Amino acid sequence: MSGFGVDESYLLSVLQSLISIESINPSLVQGGSGESKIAHQIGDYLDRIGLEVDYQEIDEGRENVIGVLRGGGAGRTLMLNGHTDTVSITGMDIEPLEPVFRDGLVYGRGAFDMKGSLAAMLAAAKELVMSKARLNGDVVFAFVADEEYASVGTEEVIKEYSTDAAIVTEPTGLQLIIAHRGYAWAKVEVRGKAAHGSLFDVGVDAITKAGKVLVALDELEGKFQTQSRHPLLGRPSVHASLIQGGTELSTYPDYCRIELERRTLPDEDYHTIEAELNRLVSDVASSDRQFDASSEVFFYRPGLEISEDIEIVNHLTNACQTVTGTRPELIGARWWTDAALLSRAEIPAVLFGPSGDGAHSPVESVDFESLKTTARVLAEVTSSFCG
Ligand SMILES: [Zn+2]
Repeated sequence: MSGFGVDESYLLSVLQSLISIESINPSLVQGGSGESKIAHQIGDYLDRIGLEVDYQEIDEGRENVIGVLRGGGAGRTLMLNGHTDTVSITGMDIEPLEPVFRDGLVYGRGAFDMKGSLAAMLAAAKELVMSKARLNGDVVFAFVADEEYASVGTEEVIKEYSTDAAIVTEPTGLQLIIAHRGYAWAKVEVRGKAAHGSLFDVGVDAITKAGKVLVALDELEGKFQTQSRHPLLGRPSVHASLIQGGTELSTYPDYCRIELERRTLPDEDYHTIEAELNRLVSDVASSDRQFDASSEVFFYRPGLEISEDIEIVNHLTNACQTVTGTRPELIGARWWTDAALLSRAEIPAVLFGPSGDGAHSPVESVDFESLKTTARVLAEVTSSFCG
């Protein structure tokens, strides 16, 4: 084991300062402070390390901060990408904004998802500068807003920065994630005919008609359970999320809306999901003359699938080997990340980060030892990929 070291007390103090800044995503939780304050704190750290610092304002109180470490030549360029926003802090069983370091774990909202990783990115940047690592290509340290809601932060970064590869430093338990599922949000609007509750020969009940859509969704989910599986990601899935309809007890409802989420495999695009839902609705309509409905896919995020053979995977695997003595596993994740947006923008992206527990949960903590490893691996992979 060798390679880059890490300044442990710097890593811990940066992490504690980032946890103590509330950066709840205001699109997710009303009254959340957003990412400007934490972005400026990170910008100060980047400036002190000696990186070029750039801010991208997305909205009021919503900012990205980007630190660029310039390489000396025309070598490969790399982006390290982490999100600065967190979910809500209400109902937590720990002090969310007062970090505690106990038994090797750092507790606080965002410690695991993912301020620990942000601190590791800063510690890696500092190590690269202090050790005067010889880099040819530029390194872009992107600290982005809004990953927990609509990923506006990474969308903004992509407009101005392009690199030969990216590592999203979401927590992965020191394994290497090369694939994850995508998702689509859709709605089905069912129209009935309003009438007094006594007028069975006039009214058409939009809610019971919508029930046929729910049954069809359940059958679709059942079909997914038996279909062949993706080696890293398993199967796709679908579930109804929201339902709305009806006006009062004695009236036939003229409208019912179902909103649903479809989790996708990387080879299922927007059109796959649109066609699937259209077919589902028209199948119901073909067996019921009174059924009248339309569907729409209103939000879509692609999945991620990176070849095991690309250079960043090799470099990251070797960097782990150098730092820890073991090779990481190449795995898939069920959840979605910004890596899919980077890959779609022709920046092949993989995920690597620390261990911990409790993302979006009442008790959240990151394993400090794994954070030290993350920082060292990030410095190592950067110096080999961009060197
Ligand atoms: Zn996250």
